[in-house]
Amino acid sequence: MERNFKQLSGESIDVLVIGGGIYGAWTAYDAALRGLNTVLVDKGDWGSGTSMASSKLIHGGLRYLEQMKFGLVKKALAERKLLAELGPHRVLPLQLAVPLFRGSRVGPRQMKLGLILYDWLAGHGQPVDSHRFLGRSRFTGAYPFINNTNIRAGFTYGDCQTDDARLVLELVSGARKAGAVAVNYASAESLLYEGDTVTGAVIKDGVDGASINIQAKVTINCAGPWNESLLKDPDGPPLTRLNKGVHLLMPPLPTSHAFLIINESDNRIFFMIPWYGKTLLGTTDTDYPGDPDKVSVTREDIDYLLAGANRVFDSITWDRSDVCGAFAGLRSLRNIEGASPSEVTREWSLNDSQPGLLMPIGGKLTSARADSQLIVDRACELLGAIPNEPHPTQVTPFPWSPDIEYELWKSQMLEEAVDLGLPAEMAIWTIFRYGQKIHKIFNLIRTSPELSRPILKGLPFCQAELVYCATHEMVVHLRDLVRRRIPLIILQQLGRESLKAIADKVAPILGWNEKDIEAEVEDIITHYAHIS
Ligand SMILES: Cc1cc2nc3c(=O)[nH]c(=O)nc-3n(C[C@H](O)[C@H](O)[C@H](O)COP(=O)(O)OP(=O)(O)OC[C@H]3O[C@@H](n4cnc5c(N)ncnc54)[C@H](O)[C@@H]3O)c2cc1C
Repeated sequence: MERNFKQLSGESIDVLVIGGGIYGAWTAYDAALRGLNTVLVDKGDWGSGTSMASSKLIHGGLRYLEQMKFGLVKKALAERKLLAELGPHRVLPLQLAVPLFRGSRVGPRQMKLGLILYDWLAGHGQPVDSHRFLGRSRFTGAYPFINNTNIRAGFTYGDCQTDDARLVLELVSGARKAGAVAVNYASAESLLYEGDTVTGAVIKDGVDGASINIQAKVTINCAGPWNESLLKDPDGPPLTRLNKGVHLLMPPLPTSHAFLIINESDNRIFFMIPWYGKTLLGTTDTDYPGDPDKVSVTREDIDYLLAGANRVFDSITWDRSDVCGAFAGLRSLRNIEGASPSEVTREWSLNDSQPGLLMPIGGKLTSARADSQLIVDRACELLGAIPNEPHPTQVTPFPWSPDIEYELWKSQMLEEAVDLGLPAEMAIWTIFRYGQKIHKIFNLIRTSPELSRPILKGLPFCQAELVYCATHEMVVHLRDLVRRRIPLIILQQLGRESLKAIADKVAPILGWNEKDIEAEVEDIITHYAHIS
């Protein structure tokens, strides 16, 4: 995946996709698989907007049942099943536990009904187990670190999890393989018009400042939280409303299960999810009227999440010094006047009120494939082409899916990884992260066995990944490498020295001199020291 801004040419193309988050990635992949002449650009790195800041769940969204959003949940559960089939290395089953405390707004009967409905809407052949009721003593026996004084009962149920940034990257790589041109650090500065019709965009190279006009028959604005800034009248009535969600990375809990918790202080739901050996704790849900480029984690966000977690613990207490990392993301939701942040619908819609331009609003990581299929159907209509049946992304395995039966392949890869000196836990995560590309990691280790060593003590990533990602995964800046290709800086606090050591390792591959290394390290220190 080499970055080459010069691949963008002035020739007219079928589809220009602006924004390489999950929506742009699926849309470009789908369009390219249908044979459309497609270009995908992102002003930053792939997945560097909301799509790297999700809870990483591929789920139906149990909480939407309370809002009677049965259609939304059913659609997401169908996608959960499909994505786990097409990308078993990327979408992993996850067991969740739900403790119900005395005085909670949801009692055991209501939760039971909700989970029956959830399983029923999911239908047969799901990648996860159905829900189970656990009486008080069984629940507290299974999860002894949860405060047992007030607990009434609990449940377990299944959903799936992923690595959101790598999911986006895999799809971008698939789009390129299918013929799309995809360039990161390429910003759409403004749209091009003929009369009222959008005919493409001015694209600026974020590396050397060059610009090019791209003429497209259909332009798709997948810029998520930034989408309105591209419109002709950014001061018109807002189509979207931004809502901030913060996650913290905390020490591991003594279980492989995740938790859905109903926060007693405000009745909101939050999650504690095992991820790369740590616990992802989130999320907050607050209106965000500010600049999307400046979204950050505040001390109030941290204290709110820590208080929520500590309220349900018995033998564990987390404080600020336990926070390994934190990140904030923005939900871009359809604007509904007067609704509270958590009441605003997560339902997706496609705005096509301007000729030549399509603009998705809202949505979810989980349902982005299905929504993108509709975007490309609409683009095909505008291009006078017939939408394909079945849709290509409905039947095509993920770009890095193994080409033999998954469990058999996984056990072969595990064996090979362990033979090469990778600890079993690291091997499991490496399989998840690279799919069939893992062979390239193995080859690097075979040539230089010291590359099997961990990048950082306590994290399941090996040195070969640095070399592989820097060489093959379109890394432009150090932050691409240590935040999205490998999520080091959100799993562990990294000082200048560790960052410099990583930058030194990849500098020869990326052509960085000492001054570049210093600038790359400084950029991360400034960016990630932004807890205000
Ligand atoms: C806190 C939180 C938790 C969530 N958890 C989940 C979850 O667990 N499961 C789930 O299914 N969903 C979840 N979601 C929802 C999901 O993450 C989003 O729906 C999804 O990531 C939105 O993707 P997107 O492609 O629309 O936007 P983005 O990922 O923001 O992508 C937009 C891209 O456009 C680029 N861009 C902007 N302007 C320009 C320009 N002018 N030129 C070129 N590029 C541009 C940006 O750099 C960015 O990469 C969560 C959301 C949040 C905020």
